[in-house]
Amino acid sequence: MNMHESLTELIGDTPLVRLRSVVPPGSAPLYAKVEYLNPGGSVKDRIALRMVETAEADGLLRPGGTIVEPTSGNTGVGLAIVAQQKGYHCVFTCPDKVSRDKIDVLRAYGAEVVVCPAAVRPEHPDSYRSVASRIASERPGAVQLNQYANRSNPESHYHTTGPELWRQTEGRLTHFVAGIGTGGTISGAGRYLREVSGGTVRIIGVDPDGSIYSGGTGRPYLVEGVGQPSCPDSYDPTVVDEVIAVTDQESILMTRRLAREDALLTGGSGGMAAAAAVRVAAAAGPEALVVVLLPDSGRGYLSKIFNDDWLAGLGLYDPPTDQPRVRDAA
Ligand code: PMP
Repeated sequence: MNMHESLTELIGDTPLVRLRSVVPPGSAPLYAKVEYLNPGGSVKDRIALRMVETAEADGLLRPGGTIVEPTSGNTGVGLAIVAQQKGYHCVFTCPDKVSRDKIDVLRAYGAEVVVCPAAVRPEHPDSYRSVASRIASERPGAVQLNQYANRSNPESHYHTTGPELWRQTEGRLTHFVAGIGTGGTISGAGRYLREVSGGTVRIIGVDPDGSIYSGGTGRPYLVEGVGQPSCPDSYDPTVVDEVIAVTDQESILMTRRLAREDALLTGGSGGMAAAAAVRVAAAAGPEALVVVLLPDSGRGYLSKIFNDDWLAGLGLYDPPTDQPRVRDAA
C-alpha cells in the first residue's frame, strides 16, 4: 500500500535531478535538490514541521493553540500546512508591500493574516514584527516560533536534508552549494555532511552580492529569501568553507536559463545558488560530484524575474545573452 494519512508525511525526500544545459563541458556532474516538490512548494516545509513538533514536545504548543509568525513567504505556507493538519490556528503578520497573491495563499489554507504598514521602523509598535510579538503575548496559548532563533530550523536540515543528500549520492557527494537566508539549510545540512564525510565535503554558501554573509554592507538586492542585513543565530559560519557572492543580474539570468534549458522553474534564490554551483562544478573537474539546492518554485515570481518588462524597468534585461542555447546555435 502506498497511502498517506497526512500531507505532512510528504515533507522531505525530494529528488536530485541532473542539470545539463547550464554546465560547461569538463565540469563535475551537477545535480539539483528540487525542494519546490515539497507539499507547500518550498524547503521551508521542513523547518515548519520540526519547529511545530519541537514546540509540542516542549509543551509550548497545546491542542487548540495558535502559531504566530511575522512572515508572508515560504515559512508561512509551511507553517500554515503543518498547523492546519495538526489542528492549530495560525496568525501571520506581514508588511503591506507584500503581494495580494501571497496573502491569499496563506488565507486559503485557513490562516489569519494581519497586514501592517511597511513604512515604519522595525521597533515601531505597528511594524509587522512588533504586531506579531504583541499578538503572541496577548492571545492565550499562542507561540511565536521565530525561525531566525529557533534551533529546530538548522536541526531539521541536520536530520533530513543532510542525510538525504548523503544517501542519494551514496556518499559520493564532494561539494554542497546552497543560498543563505536564515542560514538554517547550509548550517544544518552542512554540519551533517561534514560529520558523515569526515570533513571531505566542501560546504559552499551563496549570498546576494551586497549582503553581509559575503562581506557586504547589507545594501539592497532583488533576489528574495536570501541574504541578511545582520547575522542571525540560525547561521553557523564555522560550518561553511566558502561564501560566493552572486549579482542580481547573474541570479536572474541563471533562473531563467534553468526554466528554459533544464525545465526547472525555480525562484531567484535557486538561480543564484545554481550560478555559483556552475562555477564550482567547472573548477572541481569531472571526478567531483556537486549538489545545489533549489529552495522554491518560480511560480511565485512570474510577474518579476520571468517578466521582461519588470526586468527592463530595472535595467536588468539583456536579450542577447538571455536566449536559449538551441537558438544561439541556429
Ligand atoms: N530561498 C528562499 C526562496 C527562501 O525562502 C529561503 C529561506 N529564507 C532561502 C532561500 C534560504 O534558506 P535558509 O533560510 O535555510 O538559509
